[in-house]
Amino acid sequence: MLTGTKEIKDVFRVVKEIVYPGRCPVCDGILNTFEIKNGKIKRGGLIHKDCIKKIRYVKQPTCIKCGKGLKGADADREFCEDCSRTRHLYDRGFSLFEYRSISGSIYRFKYMGRQEYADFYARATKRVLGDTLSVLGIDLIVPVPMYPKKVLERGYNQAEIYAKKVSELLDIPMCANLVGRTRNTLPMKNLDVRGRRNNLKKAFNIQRNDVKFKCILIIDDIYTTGSTIDEMAHSLRQAGAEKIYFLTLAIGQTT
Ligand SMILES: [Zn+2]
Ligand SMILES: [Zn+2]
Repeated sequence: MLTGTKEIKDVFRVVKEIVYPGRCPVCDGILNTFEIKNGKIKRGGLIHKDCIKKIRYVKQPTCIKCGKGLKGADADREFCEDCSRTRHLYDRGFSLFEYRSISGSIYRFKYMGRQEYADFYARATKRVLGDTLSVLGIDLIVPVPMYPKKVLERGYNQAEIYAKKVSELLDIPMCANLVGRTRNTLPMKNLDVRGRRNNLKKAFNIQRNDVKFKCILIIDDIYTTGSTIDEMAHSLRQAGAEKIYFLTLAIGQTT
């Protein structure tokens, strides 16, 4: 018998999953709503078992600034090549996946309406980075905003969808409208580093003048040159934030 709202919600979720089964974030194939494990019927997972092996998580050692994995001859260094050349405006960053192993998934998450992948992304974030993030003293999670017209066209801001799930699982509040995007910037993938920085000048503004949060975690989908995070960190610092970290789903070469 159904006794509480939680049970009723669970039933609705299961019915919804039977009608619209979830999709695997790696291969986009349909997921099983139920699985039989040790003779018992269990809820299905958020990813196919075989697909788990195809993902590569960022591994130690990592750059102490941007969090990118350091490989080969760079393994003994503190900073990656980019961070030893560039002065970034955030304090430190963390990313979950190596970009190349998850690029197709992020593309569908971003452009093809696969918002449901955020459940897997956020759970993996908690498992892999939860302890690291929880000792930073983060007051607030802020997703990288999207220009409003673009949100209307796409229907959602993928960074916000991911940030919301992370916020729920890590139990840290999120504010999606603290920072606004003042103008529609050009697609970053066609620009070099200098072009990216110019493109972002004054691209963000703080919407509220009562920013009392001292330690902020900026969340985005992909970290490439860091110019977006830097520009947002700059605006947040001007508004009084003292510590600025970032978390992205993926980091690495995007070309
Ligand atoms: Zn799969
Ligand atoms: Zn770095």
